[in-house]
Amino acid sequence: MAEKVVIIGSGPAGWSAAIYAARASLSPLLFEGTVKPEMIPLGQLAYTTEVENYPGFPFGNIHGFVQSAVDKDRHWNLPDPPDHKKDGQYHYAVQGTELMELMKQQALNFDTRVVEDDIVDIDVTSRPYKVIPAGGEPIETHAIIIATGARANYLGLPSEEEYKNKGVSACAVCDGALPTFHAKPLAVVGAGDSAVEEATYLANLKSAVKVHMIVRRDEMRASKIMQQRAFDNPKIEVHWNQVVDEVLGDGNLVTGLRLKSTVDDSTSELAVGGMFVAIGHTPNTSFLGGKVAMNDKGYIQWTLPFRTNTSVEGVFAAGDVADDYYRQAITSAGTGCMAALDVERYLADKGIE
Ligand code: NDP
Repeated sequence: MAEKVVIIGSGPAGWSAAIYAARASLSPLLFEGTVKPEMIPLGQLAYTTEVENYPGFPFGNIHGFVQSAVDKDRHWNLPDPPDHKKDGQYHYAVQGTELMELMKQQALNFDTRVVEDDIVDIDVTSRPYKVIPAGGEPIETHAIIIATGARANYLGLPSEEEYKNKGVSACAVCDGALPTFHAKPLAVVGAGDSAVEEATYLANLKSAVKVHMIVRRDEMRASKIMQQRAFDNPKIEVHWNQVVDEVLGDGNLVTGLRLKSTVDDSTSELAVGGMFVAIGHTPNTSFLGGKVAMNDKGYIQWTLPFRTNTSVEGVFAAGDVADDYYRQAITSAGTGCMAALDVERYLADKGIE
């Protein structure tokens, strides 16, 4: 018998969709993904440390709560708690992996079925549709929620990889206010609207000292108004015609960058306590082979305002895979909920019980 709904992806959108679909008795089947960096189990948040902007998780004894909520057989996947204590108890904001394990637990508590595999193709030529897992038989389903997210682009330097979560980040809004970056000069790589937004965000933090923007050409791609915002900010300094050649560190944290000129190959060193990479994102949509309409950047297009419908009836999209604008955990979770409600109504309209 065909599934009612298959959810592809295990970030905030996927788990939120699963929680709502399960509670609507749709018995969702969720594919968690295995392939890094594309179908990351637990999504991009699995790569971040503390998440200070997800509502409902202020600083507190998160460790105790997570230990009590998440099934013991998955405790191995939980990160060590940060060493912040108050009155002898852990006192920190929920960590990315903890938040995702909590969402997963909530979905499991309502009998979501989870498969650790990647969907490598879908067949939407006839109903019921099919999703094709990498390691198993095609599965028939009446509805599909695509929640495979997007991945931040990185420079691809080994030293950048070494210092991820130790001063290298791809999200200033998520990580900029963390103690690691407090009162240190910082660098933002990129010259699009995101880079300017990240630089401005960092420069406006109370603890901001200096923000260096590393721009590889002699002009920015960002809109004029955004560029002006950077130029007008006394804490932002733009380094034109420069790329990052190496991330420098002391083994524990980033201490600087070696820059290379794109004009004459000369190099220089810049002392910074963090590097924020803002050179765009890549949506995880290649497995769809163009069967669902996408925009020119490969993001799935929602086809109705304030709905998660796609160009294919019965296929819905949630989270960053369809959103290159907000890209926040909370907005992904919100559209995951919307997708599940849209599926529930779609199945009811079709008389599928
Ligand atoms: P963009 O693709 O617009 O910009 C990417 C930037 O990264 C470019 O400046 C590019 O340089 C640079 N870059 C790419 N690869 C490298 C590299 N290896 N080394 C150094 N620099 C590199 O991505 P954004 O994420 O900035 O924006 C995505 C979309 O979201 C855009 O449409 C943007 O307008 C929108 N947006 C809007 C905002 C707003 O309106 N407030 C805020 C944020 C995003 P180059 O220019 O040389 O190619």
